[in-house]
Amino acid sequence: MILIIGGGIAGMQSAIEVTSYGLEAAIVEKSPYLGGNANFLHKYFPSMPLDCSVCITSCIDMPGIRKCFYRSSIFSLENLKIYTNSEIKEIKKENGKFKVVIEKLPRYVREDRCVNCELCKDACPVEVEDNLLGKRKAIYSYPQPIPPVYTIDMQACNKCGKCKEVCRTDAIDLEQKPEKIELEAEAIIIATGFEEFKPHDMVEYGYGTYKNVITQLELAKMLKQDNFKAEKVLMIQCVGSRDKRFFAYCSKICCMFAIKHAIMLKEKYPDIEIYIAYMDIRTPGFYEYWYRKARELGIKFLRSRPGDIVENNGKLEVYFENTLEKKVDKLEVDYVVLSTALIPNENVKRLAEMLGLELDEYGFILSEDGRTNVPNVFVAGLASSVKDVPETVLEAVASTVEVIK
Ligand code: SF4
Ligand code: SF4
Ligand code: SF4
Repeated sequence: MILIIGGGIAGMQSAIEVTSYGLEAAIVEKSPYLGGNANFLHKYFPSMPLDCSVCITSCIDMPGIRKCFYRSSIFSLENLKIYTNSEIKEIKKENGKFKVVIEKLPRYVREDRCVNCELCKDACPVEVEDNLLGKRKAIYSYPQPIPPVYTIDMQACNKCGKCKEVCRTDAIDLEQKPEKIELEAEAIIIATGFEEFKPHDMVEYGYGTYKNVITQLELAKMLKQDNFKAEKVLMIQCVGSRDKRFFAYCSKICCMFAIKHAIMLKEKYPDIEIYIAYMDIRTPGFYEYWYRKARELGIKFLRSRPGDIVENNGKLEVYFENTLEKKVDKLEVDYVVLSTALIPNENVKRLAEMLGLELDEYGFILSEDGRTNVPNVFVAGLASSVKDVPETVLEAVASTVEVIK
């Protein structure tokens, strides 16, 4: 059995590859649903028109058909077990095999009984704000969820039992307890993905102080919920990246993140003014087309690194040196969107300690051709370095080849 840790694009792709060779596999994902960051990114490059990020996690075994249609086919792979809402608690190597202990946290809805009918959602009286879904009930699921079942957010739930009254399959179990699961794996693929750096320490930008200073991932969530309104927006590139105080590397895909969002906004609201303040624009290969398209749409690129942001009467005043025109300027905008560094998921450190993995100075897993320093432990996707989606998929395929060698 091959254990895949992380159920985002890299993990799902690895699972599809591994099982296509007839091997048994298991995905362990800590959130209640598969998809990872794909659930939050709203739209994806490089496809044109942009792919829906929910669909991109689809199974690839049905070429020529829109992915969303067959997305859930990963759920029906017979030699794949999916453990969502689950965390790795322990990994030990014994007799050349990995003994793994997983804790599956309660979802309070039985996966073997829920038919995703939504009756419970309509009956639930508790509404909460969710940064992915907007307003949702205490019992909820994602769009096109994998697995296709509901989950109760016990921090919001008042245990009124109304969901239980309407559920026709008796799926609600408000007393469900955590479950301990033990597995034995011959190899492990780590596909824990990335997190977005939150620049609270960069006081010059006021992130966390000014509510309209947000990150690209936060903008993606607002675009998904269709609640972003602005007349003038400034995006600032290389926030935390290429900065020796934080992360000296280039995060590689944030130029495209910014351009993608700028184009989406401009196409939806043609009168919106969008500025992108950059040090260098990095749009290699086909991505150059996006850069050109952004310029043609009237998005303005300022060669500058803004030094200060001040909130004044609900507007954000941004002070910057325009290095091409060699003058200090001020721009007044409704929103500042920070293109922040992409960093390894916090779980990598814990896994590295359990397995003895070597990490680089920023916490990415050191690897060569998907192989780590630990025999039979492989890596796919952004756990080892920043990549775009096509590279992530390629690496998942490559790591599988290493596994079966
Ligand atoms: S828990 Fe019951 S009511 Fe809610 S979606 Fe599942 S089957 Fe339907
Ligand atoms: S028990 Fe919880 S989830 Fe169910 S209806 Fe009541 S508040 Fe909603
Ligand atoms: S991809 Fe662009 S924004 Fe991101 S770190 Fe590199 S140069 Fe800066």
